[in-house]
Amino acid sequence: MTTAEAFDSWKGPVSLVTGGAGFLGSHLCDRLLAEGHAVIALDNLITGSVDNVAHLAGHERFKFFRMDVTEYLFFPGRIDFVFHFASPASPIDYLELPIQTLKVGAMGTHKTLGLARAKKAAFILASTSEVYGDPLIHPQTENYWGNVNPIGPRGVYDEAKRFAEAMTFAYHRYHGVNTKIVRIFNTYGPRMRLRDGRVVPAFIGQALQGEPLTVFGNGSQTRSFCFVSDLIDGIFRLAMSKDHGPVNIGNPREMTVRQFAELIINLTGSKSSIVCKPLPVDDPKQRRPDISKAKSLLGWEPKVPVEEGIRRTVEYFTPRINSTKAA
Ligand code: UDP
Repeated sequence: MTTAEAFDSWKGPVSLVTGGAGFLGSHLCDRLLAEGHAVIALDNLITGSVDNVAHLAGHERFKFFRMDVTEYLFFPGRIDFVFHFASPASPIDYLELPIQTLKVGAMGTHKTLGLARAKKAAFILASTSEVYGDPLIHPQTENYWGNVNPIGPRGVYDEAKRFAEAMTFAYHRYHGVNTKIVRIFNTYGPRMRLRDGRVVPAFIGQALQGEPLTVFGNGSQTRSFCFVSDLIDGIFRLAMSKDHGPVNIGNPREMTVRQFAELIINLTGSKSSIVCKPLPVDDPKQRRPDISKAKSLLGWEPKVPVEEGIRRTVEYFTPRINSTKAA
């Protein structure tokens, strides 16, 4: 970024979002712009897509840079908030990109914390329910330390995020950086990649095309799905609060993966059947956030019912499936 590109004349807050062209990062950019921030979005586009921020092209308070945040970051001008949201985030992605996943969680967090420190900016780390691994307490509270296999295939993501949390707290304690950690539970909505392997796009894509829904294992494992607008609202409230976290943000409505498959079939009116496929290694058996902390500290709880969220997600995927078919 050259000096000429800094938001020098802007009087409102300036936010930098890594992973700004990703699923969550791009929704976060939208929210920050709506709240009157100027936004610098960074993404190396290995899993993000410029399509997610194409609608912001030409916005006077938005700049996008294709950049790898594991490298040294230099930005002239003021930055008030650094949101570190860059990372491969689906099990398929981090199996295909294990080193990049570790690097962005470790070196990327170090570089972005260094930037926040230099700018005296608040720092918000996108952490994950994966820090709890295959949890032995249920629902998961923030004071649970987790049950993670460091050398399993998911370990590259889980341990990178655990390292990122440790590094974030070290910068908070040692350098006095105003850091915040959000532990994000399963989230879904428009701008997910149809083929990113996660259960929501997988099931919706299969249901809309009349293919069998691929339930891994016997489908008795549980997840709790949060619509993206609710999640972003929780993150925004945490960023603006005086709290440092970690704070769970997610929807506590828990269901089994099989129940979720049936729900998708019903909501899409699909004639698809359900087939069972092998359960991935270390797939957590249960997951549900305890959101008491988010409720009391941030006055936050999710508002969008899963039926409504799925309807909006189906609306997003339908034309994309049709255009894949036509191609
Ligand atoms: N899953 C499934 N079928 C699929 C994709 C995923 O049954 O086609 C299961 C997966 O094994 C896990 C749950 O759905 O138990 C959620 O998977 P996802 O990859 O979305 O996220 P995770 O919570 O595992 O990180």
